[in-house]
Amino acid sequence: MQPPTEYATDVLVIGSGAAGLSLALRLAGHCDVMVLSKGPLNEGSTLYAQGGIAAVFDETDSVDSHVDDTLIAGAGMCDREAVEFIAGNARHCVQWLIDQGVLFDTEASTPAGDRYHLTREGGHSHRRILHAADATGKAVETTLVGKAAAHPGIQILERCNAVDLVTSNRLGLPGTRRVVGAYIWNRAKERVELCRAREVVLATGGASKVYQYTTNPDISSGDGIAMAWRAGCRVANLEFNQFHPTCLFHPQARNFLLTEALRGEGAYLRRPDGSRFTPDFDPRAELAPRDIVARAIDHEMKRLRADCMYLDISHRPEAFIRQHFPTIYDKLLTLDIDLNRQPIPIVPAAHYTCGGVMVDKHGRTDLDGLYAIGEVSYTGLHGANRLASNSLLECLVYGWSAAEDIQRRLPAIAQVRQLPPWDESRVSNSDEEVVLQHNWQELRLFMWDYVGIVRTTKRLERALHRIELLTREIDEYYSNFRISNNLLEVRNLVQVAELIVKSALQRKESRGLHFTLDYPAMQPDPKPTILQPR
Ligand SMILES: Cc1cc2nc3c(=O)[nH]c(=O)nc-3n(C[C@H](O)[C@H](O)[C@H](O)COP(=O)(O)OP(=O)(O)OC[C@H]3O[C@@H](n4cnc5c(N)ncnc54)[C@H](O)[C@@H]3O)c2cc1C
Repeated sequence: MQPPTEYATDVLVIGSGAAGLSLALRLAGHCDVMVLSKGPLNEGSTLYAQGGIAAVFDETDSVDSHVDDTLIAGAGMCDREAVEFIAGNARHCVQWLIDQGVLFDTEASTPAGDRYHLTREGGHSHRRILHAADATGKAVETTLVGKAAAHPGIQILERCNAVDLVTSNRLGLPGTRRVVGAYIWNRAKERVELCRAREVVLATGGASKVYQYTTNPDISSGDGIAMAWRAGCRVANLEFNQFHPTCLFHPQARNFLLTEALRGEGAYLRRPDGSRFTPDFDPRAELAPRDIVARAIDHEMKRLRADCMYLDISHRPEAFIRQHFPTIYDKLLTLDIDLNRQPIPIVPAAHYTCGGVMVDKHGRTDLDGLYAIGEVSYTGLHGANRLASNSLLECLVYGWSAAEDIQRRLPAIAQVRQLPPWDESRVSNSDEEVVLQHNWQELRLFMWDYVGIVRTTKRLERALHRIELLTREIDEYYSNFRISNNLLEVRNLVQVAELIVKSALQRKESRGLHFTLDYPAMQPDPKPTILQPR
């Protein structure tokens, strides 16, 4: 048998979304960079982002105002220093993206079309969202992928999962524990490979796949959070999951988001019998904030035992609908749903992981040699609720600040000579894939039912009990059978599920995205929920 490949690079970037690729492009040319991507290079949440990126580009707007809006959305839980750092560095980081070739929409009214068209989204007191029609993420990701693929200083490994980080203590090296590389599951070759690196950057995105319904692509299985936790890093605020109120409910299109702009333009939410219900929950009805609308939908679904509710904009003129929502209109037609004539089946869906691996303002984690940037990280920006369009911005700002820090520190860091080999001597091929599939479905369903939009202590405890059983089963499976993508993801998801539930149990109040019937009020002087590995 051929020995497994062992790579060596200066910086191993795990993830190829806005965070990973912006960092890789900034470092390339200064040192060797390897980018790892679990699926095709462009697959990740970044590709699907619709609305845009927040940054102060209008002279009537200000960084202070962006900071204030973020702090208000975060419901008293943001780290002001982090918010100021990100809002203060927004403009030059977005300008960097423009310099890479991203074409944001401009004002048609200016003579040279040289002013960006800025939209306004919920919670922003100014127009400050740069966008590329209703497919901003596609414009960003496609541009960055094109640049990275063409860069001679970036080595790309697609369809390869990082399995776990390797730390110096496993090599018996003296001194502070640091990350020295990673094990990689090469899906095509079906074997584990090794990568030595002087610095490792986690840019693996969020963990919304832990829920039955999500707007996220399949890759969002919390791998980075689980790997960092197993290696010894603290995580924070994982009880704050943002649920988007309106995700299409359809067997052939599980993750399709229906933008808030539909409700902004007059769409109603209806029960299966056609009656409206949001006015019963909030005077702002369909235009109440995301968390309130999501809770109203969840309440009605549970009360009526309905699979979904409906979003209806068919009362607006046909030409208006086609002009304002061309992407959604076309997509729905392929599923035989006519936006002009019928209500759309929807469910709320897990959308964004506000917590994550704890980092400082350079993206440094608790372990030397390990950075975390983008949705995988907890920087303190989002607090208890994320302000729309701040997440792509966070990816860009930390892509920049971590790259600067790595460049400064790299000369003093030596490469290790060897990693401990991956031991497969006691495993065999699985003959029970069905068990994995079952565990996967069970986990996502009870997370949805017990740890979703509305929580209670009893439901959380129930979930924790089931997680403990699943963890035992999956650990046993992991020890006995060769790994597969499914096994790696479910192992990480169950780990992240445990961290989410434990964080939720610690918060004895309802705040922002965490709502529990047992503690409906807010407590004074809130603190982040920090979990420390044993
Ligand atoms: C439908 C939708 C709409 C959104 N709209 C907006 C918006 O308008 N504005 C905004 O600011 N935000 C928006 N967001 C959120 C935003 O898109 C994400 O937070 C952001 O793109 C995350 O970028 P990232 O680089 O951290 O991760 P991602 O873009 O998710 O990339 C993660 C990368 O990590 C890789 N990866 C994961 N695990 C492993 C592993 N084990 N081994 C190797 N590689 C791995 C994946 O292959 C992928 O390349 C939206 C999200 C969704 C889903």
